[in-house]
Amino acid sequence: MATIRPLPESVRSSIRSGISLFDFTRIVEELVFNSLDARATKVSVFVNIGSCFLKVVDDGDGITRDGLELVGERYATSKFLNLADLNTTSENFGFRGEALASISEVSLLEIVTRAYGRPNGYRKVLKGCKCLYLGIDDDRKEAGTTVIVCEIFYNQPVRRKHIESSPNKVLQSIKKCVMRLALVCPNISFKVVDIEREDELFCSHSAASPLSLVTAGFGVEVTNSLHELEVENNIIKLTGYISGPCNTIDMKALQYLYINSQFVCKGPIHKLLSQLAIRFEHRNSWSADSECKNKKRDRSQPCPAYILNLRCPRSLYVLSFEPSKTYVEFKDWTPILNFIEKVI
Ligand code: ADP
Ligand code: MG
Repeated sequence: MATIRPLPESVRSSIRSGISLFDFTRIVEELVFNSLDARATKVSVFVNIGSCFLKVVDDGDGITRDGLELVGERYATSKFLNLADLNTTSENFGFRGEALASISEVSLLEIVTRAYGRPNGYRKVLKGCKCLYLGIDDDRKEAGTTVIVCEIFYNQPVRRKHIESSPNKVLQSIKKCVMRLALVCPNISFKVVDIEREDELFCSHSAASPLSLVTAGFGVEVTNSLHELEVENNIIKLTGYISGPCNTIDMKALQYLYINSQFVCKGPIHKLLSQLAIRFEHRNSWSADSECKNKKRDRSQPCPAYILNLRCPRSLYVLSFEPSKTYVEFKDWTPILNFIEKVI
């Protein structure tokens, strides 16, 4: 009979990293999240897919020497102390203190940082959650952090092969991921550069309207169909853009819902928005039917295009603890859905 025994800590850690960092884009996303949590106003992402290289540069708060000592240890975070904090006050993207540890398990990780107002900057190099080097480094003259990730997935041949076999797909996915963040953070300048082909894939300037990004990513027709929206009651605020019911693929691709600026996967709010579009379309088609009975119409299910950000107290919902953090569960969906239905 097989013997059951606990796996060594190093093996557990490696398995966890392999699960949470399932592709190149997830690594980019985690690093950009960290820059945003550090209150950066400029975030630049440089990638070389062919050599599995990534660099994220920000002008955020930076990390002190003492902080850097702990960075990269699993569950070391500056963002919360207990679960109560997390579910009531935290508005950070990060909360698990796991991303940098996990990244160092699947690559060679280097962090160059200077904390705001400090005379020196520092560099830390990590591999497999272990510190290979930590010392003064004055490469950065201004406050902020540069994270360099080399040899991505060197120990995960299946993931590595996937990247090598479809570099363009990876680039598009990174671009989409940064754009999703740029749409909801209009005050921050983002840039994605493919250093292999010297190509700037994405660029957003702070204070530009998110609509210019929609035009660049989805076309002018999609932009022209959007209506701006900003409505609030004493608890919830809904801002952004929404179109009427539509059937084109371009429009259906733009269904971005954020809760407190975090992009969320399809759930009850997306379902409600689609149902409202169908109801709206039916009402219009009934009146049109009486005018032109024989006219043929596209009968595929219509739905709206939207970029909507719902702001509400963190105490109203819980976040799922799965790695991409994109599922939320409201303790009571009814007032949220009623509010949105009324607004739309
Ligand atoms: P988490 O974001 O969940 O706290 P991470 O492993 O992503 O976990 O980061 C660990 C800690 O390192 C963060 O809590 C933060 O204090 C610090 N850190 C990481 N990246 C940056 C950055 N770009 N700027 C400033 N601090 C950072
Ligand atoms: Mg993080």
